Amino acid sequence: MEVVVERLQKHNIKPSMQRIAIMKYLMEHRTHPTVDEIYTALSPTIPTLSKTTVYNTLKILSEQGAAQTLTIDERNTCYDADTSTHAHFLCKSCGRVYDLACDDAVKKVVDTDMDGHEVQEIHYYYKGICKQCKED
Ligand SMILES: [Zn+2]
Ligand SMILES: [Zn+2]
Repeated sequence: MEVVVERLQKHNIKPSMQRIAIMKYLMEHRTHPTVDEIYTALSPTIPTLSKTTVYNTLKILSEQGAAQTLTIDERNTCYDADTSTHAHFLCKSCGRVYDLACDDAVKKVVDTDMDGHEVQEIHYYYKGICKQCKED
């Protein structure tokens, strides 16, 4: 619990009970959950929680850099507590989103290549059929 509160405070987010619960869920479930998944998992213990609150909280977490928003699956925006630059793989068959390491060289942003723009996020998306689906 303390780790979660500290993380929110570090990113200038007021640690309300609902925000703590959502951040905690995201940190414990590295499966890149969607708003629906988080809402379904938390609503039994937090009856006052609404989908809108989950959505708005995830938006704040992303804006403040405590989490990242992934749009790899255009039908289901998903969220990741791991804000380091890493690649994602979407399985077109089961819809799971996997973490993939990405080469250090591609993480570097060279100022001259960005035409003066300030890069704040880098996303690498791969899509295909995951190893588990290939086995079935
Ligand atoms: Zn799959
Ligand atoms: Zn990830």
